[in-house]
Amino acid sequence: MSMLRRTLKGALRRISPTYRSICYAIDGISRIEEEQRKTKDMHKQLVADTCREISYSFSKNSESSVKKAIRPPVEMTLPIVDILKLQMVEIETFSFCNRKCWFCPNSFIDRSSKNDYMDEKTYTKILKELSLFKFKGTISYSRYNEPLADPVIFERLEQARKILPNATLHTNTNGDYLTHESLNMLKEAGLTTLNIQHYLAHDATFDKQQIYACIDEMAEKLGIAKPIKELQHRKRCGKKLDFDGIEIQMYAIDFAKTGTNRGDSLSTIQPISRVKPCPLPFRDIYIDYDGSVMPCCNVRSDYAPHAEFIMGNVTNDSIFSIINNENYINFRHNIIHNVSEFSPCNTCNM
Ligand code: SF4
Ligand code: SF4
Repeated sequence: MSMLRRTLKGALRRISPTYRSICYAIDGISRIEEEQRKTKDMHKQLVADTCREISYSFSKNSESSVKKAIRPPVEMTLPIVDILKLQMVEIETFSFCNRKCWFCPNSFIDRSSKNDYMDEKTYTKILKELSLFKFKGTISYSRYNEPLADPVIFERLEQARKILPNATLHTNTNGDYLTHESLNMLKEAGLTTLNIQHYLAHDATFDKQQIYACIDEMAEKLGIAKPIKELQHRKRCGKKLDFDGIEIQMYAIDFAKTGTNRGDSLSTIQPISRVKPCPLPFRDIYIDYDGSVMPCCNVRSDYAPHAEFIMGNVTNDSIFSIINNENYINFRHNIIHNVSEFSPCNTCNM
């Protein structure tokens, strides 16, 4: 069997580098078998530990409900990801942000004194690789920049719409650069969905009526038709709107209560004790402006303590070869088997 695997791997390597991911998957077969054996024991232990640690009475939280709450979906029980099931690729097309929000590592990492762009070739390489398997998920223009601060976003959207006609093109924004005219240009360039964040100062009261009033005012300024309805969301207080087919959510988050400590980088957000596995490294990938691939939105390549979480770089390697490489498998393995000990996930409120 191992001889057959070796021969198959050798043949695939010769056919095309694109298929290197298949070779990694073959490498991962013995790893998968090992993981399957461990998973059952791990869940048993996790349930036992959680039952011991929870402060509620057992009548309210029976062993079976704890078991259900911490059982990861099937696709999260193995550290290998099927690239065809990739849901979101988040891309930072440049580095600049105009703000230094208190709940963001940009409060102490400089992102405002210059603007470094993702190389255009790297960007189109990402899109072309995704087009090889007809990616229909979401391309999200986010990370730690303000995506609408530079007009290059319009060109990048147009390129994505052309290469990935069926993808959802999404961006988050702090709203500072948004106008009625730029909304029209985003629509023309192919944007599908937009989140406009209403950020509150550290000492501001999280008052829902005030937030709704600010949203209505902003919507009027942007020339957006009346808000459709209030958002029903666990963490977001806001409204759903529509601008000529672009689905918009405008909202505020109570970061003091529900923010994440961004991979243990922020002292302004309280850490938690995490026991549940996290879905993000199993369904999305996150690409910084220099091409670094990160496993989630909370770790970033320009923060030295997170350097060990750089999974690879798309400038020289393909997404196919990175998504199931040794770094990624080890990271996911820790999330499945060791999340309560594994920093920074063990304090993350995601
Ligand atoms: S939260 Fe957004 S707007 Fe605020 S500093 Fe971070 S990236 Fe910039
Ligand atoms: S739990 Fe870990 S992988 Fe998940 S968002 Fe937090 S830091 Fe990232």
